[in-house]
Amino acid sequence: MRISDSRYDRDRFRIEVACRMIRNEARTCTIRQGTGLSDDRIRKLYRSYFAAEPGPRVRRRRGKSPRQMSFFTRTAEHEVEAATLAALLRLCGLLGERASGRSERLEDTARFCSAYETFRSLCPAANVSFEHAWFLRQALLRHEDYSATRCPRCGGLRIRDRLALQVELCAACRPPAPAARREAGPRRGVARIRHPLPPVPACEPRTYLPVPTSSEPHTCAATQAS
Ligand SMILES: [Zn+2]
Repeated sequence: MRISDSRYDRDRFRIEVACRMIRNEARTCTIRQGTGLSDDRIRKLYRSYFAAEPGPRVRRRRGKSPRQMSFFTRTAEHEVEAATLAALLRLCGLLGERASGRSERLEDTARFCSAYETFRSLCPAANVSFEHAWFLRQALLRHEDYSATRCPRCGGLRIRDRLALQVELCAACRPPAPAARREAGPRRGVARIRHPLPPVPACEPRTYLPVPTSSEPHTCAATQAS
């Protein structure tokens, strides 16, 4: 048996995709979801190919995967990164009606790795991790509360909250916040209102009692009685 036989191509492809996901610091549950490999197989892959690798060590993420869409609207930079990633995912056919209708395939996971690696080459210091990108795609595929739509002013792609009442512009078109709001006092974002002080009423002329001129020492009534 030779490893190059075509009947093993699928298994080799699966392992190759899993290794790409490990290199991008995906969590075990995400790799299992994207490749169909078992948790034990994924851990063995990491120990065999990455644990003893020279150079910067590939980290293994622990804990829960990202679940908050508010991460992508934390700052204007986060918004732009999410929009860039959504544009790449759409170009790769990983978003849209056709993508949301079919079940996850190994080829889709491989294309997602390519889209994310392209994104990292465009934005090397990006805030959006592989896990965030994976979550963003799943949220956009569900098409429930968020969607990737065009900005009404510039036509660029942006992440839109479908429940928002107002039509929001993308981060590039939105005017910056007024400087007065940034210089707020104890509560950030609230402009300080300066109330003028009320006018001071004019003082009426006072009448002073005459100062006693007697040199006799003052004594109280009890002392005088004695
Ligand atoms: Zn715009």
